[in-house]
Amino acid sequence: MATLGAASLAKFGVSTLLAAEPDKRLGFAFVGLGGFARDHLLPGMMRCKFCKPVALVSGHPEKAATVANQYGIDSKNIYNYDNYDSIKDNPQIDAVYIVLPNGMHAEYTIRAFQAGKHVMCEKPMANTVAECQAMIAAGKAAGKKLQIGYRMHWDAPTLACIDALRNGEIGPIQIIEAETGFTIGDPTQWRLNRKLAGGGCLMDIGIYSLSAARYLSGEEPTEVFAHTYHDTSDPRFKEVEQNCDFQLKFPSGVLASCLSSYDTNLNRYVVHGRDGQCVLDPGQPYEGAKFQIERRHIHGLQAVDVTPSDQFVGEMDGFAQAINGNGPFKATGEEGMQDMRIIEGIYESARTGERVKV
Ligand code: NDP
Repeated sequence: MATLGAASLAKFGVSTLLAAEPDKRLGFAFVGLGGFARDHLLPGMMRCKFCKPVALVSGHPEKAATVANQYGIDSKNIYNYDNYDSIKDNPQIDAVYIVLPNGMHAEYTIRAFQAGKHVMCEKPMANTVAECQAMIAAGKAAGKKLQIGYRMHWDAPTLACIDALRNGEIGPIQIIEAETGFTIGDPTQWRLNRKLAGGGCLMDIGIYSLSAARYLSGEEPTEVFAHTYHDTSDPRFKEVEQNCDFQLKFPSGVLASCLSSYDTNLNRYVVHGRDGQCVLDPGQPYEGAKFQIERRHIHGLQAVDVTPSDQFVGEMDGFAQAINGNGPFKATGEEGMQDMRIIEGIYESARTGERVKV
């Protein structure tokens, strides 16, 4: 097993600082208590050193009361979507974490900024570039910060792979393959509703393929070409695409071939260089991305041993630390909007059958 060199924890977004006193931590209100907030983000925040959950916003008061009890959140800090704007009067809330269906991200982000709070918002940032622009403008007007939930930006094996690529360990990159997908169930869920989801597999999971092609190449694409498909006799795919494949062309000549699906499991990135290949397989798990490398003259893939990082602690503490002036802002609104710009190009290409400049 090959071992990664002297990559420090700090470099991978893992803070080596001592934890802040509880009353100094950034207080978060979670907006939308669905699966991701309850199963990953709230437990993740309990492992953080610089932030803490202090409030909940939910359309289901009983669920909110149970979650509040579980995390020691004061019941007077439970809000609903109607009285959400009154978070402005609660000084315990420094920031909100928007974990709502995609089509609600823009409205609830803008309302949070108007209430004078910082915002973390889940991916995809919004349904359209115009919404992204409005979100960024609202943050600027309020003098508050916006971060998008790109958890892979804090994943140690992913960052180690990017390092290896930038260090030229497999020579100049030629081709990137990025595949993400899962088999979706319940046809009545919001992910299959165009207004709430903004699109299908591309918006939800294909955005990981797109984001990976950008961070693995280190470039911005100039051109896209795409196909989408949906079997309209399948009750799940009445409104949104089931499969999407898209190609990206980068200025250096690197080509990326990306797949996304709501009807098969895919989770793998491969970077082909002139002198070898880097593989992340799985490419975007919540934990345990596996990085392997094959160098010229050394036959076969070798696993690279990377000290794992906690993506959720990384992104939430990273945001809190950046607000405190102790680190850079990563995964900004501009980053989220860039993905949306390219996604709009991908949909346009699929619709027109033409290559689209982005
Ligand atoms: P869920 O369906 O599990 O939860 C969404 C929650 O939003 C609901 O539980 C509900 O909370 C609230 N909500 C408010 N209005 C509606 C509505 N009209 N329809 C449905 N829900 C509504 O979704 P997820 O938690 O899986 O996803 C939420 C966001 O997080 C999405 O943007 C998704 O892309 C993102 N996500 C990101 C992941 C990542 O790895 N970064 C992984 C999974 C999701 P309540 O009942 O409290 O009002």
